[in-house]
Amino acid sequence: MRLKLVGIGGVSAATLEWLCGELERRLGWRCIRGETLQVCPGYNPLRGQYSAEVLLWTLSKRHADRVLGVTSEDIYAEPMNFVFGLAELGGRAAVVSTFRLRCGEHERFRSRLLKEALHELGHTLGMRHCLSRACVMSFSNSIAEVDEKAAEFCSRHARKLRG
Ligand SMILES: [Zn+2]
Ligand SMILES: [Zn+2]
Repeated sequence: MRLKLVGIGGVSAATLEWLCGELERRLGWRCIRGETLQVCPGYNPLRGQYSAEVLLWTLSKRHADRVLGVTSEDIYAEPMNFVFGLAELGGRAAVVSTFRLRCGEHERFRSRLLKEALHELGHTLGMRHCLSRACVMSFSNSIAEVDEKAAEFCSRHARKLRG
């Protein structure tokens, strides 16, 4: 599997580099860095946020087996006030936002980003939400829930990952 990582807005090159390596190691995929988008598409002036669905549509035009966008902007998907990320279930494109993951602790921020990236990429493999809180595919509605869950797939989802 070839994954293309696309930085959007103010995500640092160091963060993208780190995430690429970490995803390669954990998924066994090859990760390449795509061209960065300076301006995030999908701005909705009524909400002051960016549409995750518009982002997915933009990303789905990039060529790779999977495309993961990482944006620094706040994103939403109806009917939710915000989302940490969104993906096409069983599709190619996924997006995560660092906006609500930020914190003073570097390691904690990175761990949150990794979990959300693994979660959304899991959706592109057709995985649905997991009832196990230990699984990275469990649904997170708050940052506390992101911190709580593991950065690992449960045994059932790990099998699905290996195909
Ligand atoms: Zn999800
Ligand atoms: Zn699971």
